[in-house]
Amino acid sequence: MTKNYHSKDIDKIARQVALNLQSLMAIVEFDYNRYEKCMVCGEKYRHHIDGLPCETDAVKKEIVKRRYYDRHNVKQSN
Ligand SMILES: [Zn+2]
Repeated sequence: MTKNYHSKDIDKIARQVALNLQSLMAIVEFDYNRYEKCMVCGEKYRHHIDGLPCETDAVKKEIVKRRYYDRHNVKQSN
């Protein structure tokens, strides 16, 4: 018996899988991905409170921007 998934559900599952992978890679390559952008909030990993990207779309982590960064980079407006 085959269960029919709506494509919306599959998108949701695929999205979460991608986010899980993002979180995993963020930990594995912590020293190399500080400037990668989080898929959830668009902020760089380094700006997250714990230095790792958001894990789900439902919960966004606190973003902490340090002064050093602000001095050396121009924030792009979306
Ligand atoms: Zn994020």
